[in-house]
Amino acid sequence: MLLLGGTGEARALAGLLVGAGASVTTSLAGRVSRPALPVGEVRIGGFGGVAGLRQAVLDGGFDVVVDATHPFAATISAHAAQACADLVPLLRLQRPGWEGVRATRVGSHAEAAAVAARYRRPFLTVGRQSLDDFRSALGAHPAVARVVEPTEVPEAWTLLRSRGPYTLEGELALVQELGVDVLVSKDSGGDLTRPKLEAAARLGVPVVLVDRPPPPAGVSTVATPELAAAWVLEQQDGREVQQ
Ligand code: NAP
Repeated sequence: MLLLGGTGEARALAGLLVGAGASVTTSLAGRVSRPALPVGEVRIGGFGGVAGLRQAVLDGGFDVVVDATHPFAATISAHAAQACADLVPLLRLQRPGWEGVRATRVGSHAEAAAVAARYRRPFLTVGRQSLDDFRSALGAHPAVARVVEPTEVPEAWTLLRSRGPYTLEGELALVQELGVDVLVSKDSGGDLTRPKLEAAARLGVPVVLVDRPPPPAGVSTVATPELAAAWVLEQQDGREVQQ
């Protein structure tokens, strides 16, 4: 199986399948310097678009692909849908978005930046690659940006480098210490970074949430590594019966 990864769910799925005796190769984009590595084989770096991914599936002799990339990694998900069509079965593993959050929901980072510009000191937790819209809209604000990898930010900003998971206690202390007056996040879902939302709610800090991009059409989707593992093993059983 080829597993398009870069998420905790992908690592969990690799663990389940390797434990069940399957052969798993996880693909990482290579964005972070010290990635958390899954069990099984790992390859790192882009494929070179749809054609490159299709060729990699053929060259690697992969007979199923699971796209367990981040909900906002829309390009690789679209590439996987195109590359696997008529070639091998493809499943999308995507954690559900955050429910029950009091937030201003917006459709893009540009919209989020426009809303955040109404505040004095926004706390930007959208990831390094999504900061461009905020740099231009909030360059003069004393904003705080939290990122995993280093990046250039306007002089007025404070850059925090850290990687989740985060605790509620830690997030409560941080939001108070920084004196931020709005939290900006994308709707990543999952538990690892959710405490910031609870901290903001408790401290009365408004939240701006960027909605997810739509998933590629026609690709079956499951929400948990367990369901994805069951799907992969069913595919394997189906092939064995045919042989
Ligand atoms: P993206 O915009 O959807 O993809 C851009 C390009 O990066 C793709 O065209 C592909 O290059 C390469 N790529 C992406 N994921 C890959 C993978 N798993 N293996 C090999 N190549 C990959 O992706 P992104 O938003 O930059 O995210 C990159 C990685 O970080 C993903 O694996 C994702 O799961 C992880 N991640 C993303 C976010 C986020 O907020 N976007 C958050 C946490 C983790 P080629 O066209 O050359 O094949």
